Amino acid sequence: MGEFELIRRYFAAAPCAQAAEGIALGIGDDCALLQPAPGMQLALSTDTLVAGVHFPHPCDPFLLGQRALAVSVSDLAAMGAAPLGFTLALTLPAAEPAWLEGFARGLSRMAAQCAIALVGGDTTRGPLSLTLTVFGQVPTGAALTRGGARPGDLLCVGGSLGDGAGALPLVLGQRPVEGESASYLLQRYWAPQPQLALGQWLRGRATAALDISDGLLADCGHIAAASGVALHIDQAEVPLSPALQALAGERALDCALAGGDDYRLAFTLPPELLPSLRAQWPEASAIGRVRAGQGVQLLDGQGRRLEPPRAGYQHFGQHIEMHGD
Ligand code: ADP
Ligand code: MG
Repeated sequence: MGEFELIRRYFAAAPCAQAAEGIALGIGDDCALLQPAPGMQLALSTDTLVAGVHFPHPCDPFLLGQRALAVSVSDLAAMGAAPLGFTLALTLPAAEPAWLEGFARGLSRMAAQCAIALVGGDTTRGPLSLTLTVFGQVPTGAALTRGGARPGDLLCVGGSLGDGAGALPLVLGQRPVEGESASYLLQRYWAPQPQLALGQWLRGRATAALDISDGLLADCGHIAAASGVALHIDQAEVPLSPALQALAGERALDCALAGGDDYRLAFTLPPELLPSLRAQWPEASAIGRVRAGQGVQLLDGQGRRLEPPRAGYQHFGQHIEMHGD
């Protein structure tokens, strides 16, 4: 199978590559043409996933397709952007029909959930790696950045944390997948749901936001630094799923604080907006406060400082992934 036949069969013909609003021209020409609505800015983000570094290799191609797109689209959610399209630069050791078919199906499944269309890409031979670039639109000036948190704001998260890190022993085959808790955690790892609707609701409400990919403490550090404030996290308020607690036991909190792979939003919110947040998004909750100062502090119920766990608890690939770039 040649390169063009591969692109046509598995990508141009995939459900995720069909005509969609905001896409004036999709796969097949030298460029795709995107048409953001009037008054909108284009939001874009690129992520590269390398086999054996960012995902286990080999793995189920359907699950990989779902996850690769979800983690990329999560960046759009974090900015309050609505998805438009994405490109896929795929490097493959060989053109295996079964692998390509499963991968394209996983990609299309997540694309349908996120209402985003595949508009182009590149296909090359080499060790398996994927680079996805996502494009979204957000009203001019309304994007949620990391830089606007103010002392007095609440620190909130979009849902339970630590599930992705808690799933790693299952993902890596170090633990048998048995029972509902295990299935739930695996699902959270392989098909995280980008919090797109929450991100768009937060426009004009949240003062800062990001998606948690490297662990709550590390990512809150980005908000603190960009906003020039301190974030105080009440450890007892960090939400943990029953499945994570059942499987990880006393390590559940470490997974949530330092594990990464959550793809939940963390954001700062004026306190008077908490009731409407809770009414609209029952899974979201306040876990701390923005204070004057710098850095992230973990506190117990009495406001005493706690020692944070070692960063990167068993995070797949985090030891070799380069940060700060
Ligand atoms: P060019 O040489 O002009 O860059 P290519 O031959 O690489 O074009 O690709 C032909 C068309 O197929 C382009 O529209 C490109 O965006 C698209 N394409 C290539 N690879 C992929 C892929 N993996 N997924 C989606 N579209 C792809
Ligand atoms: Mg090309």
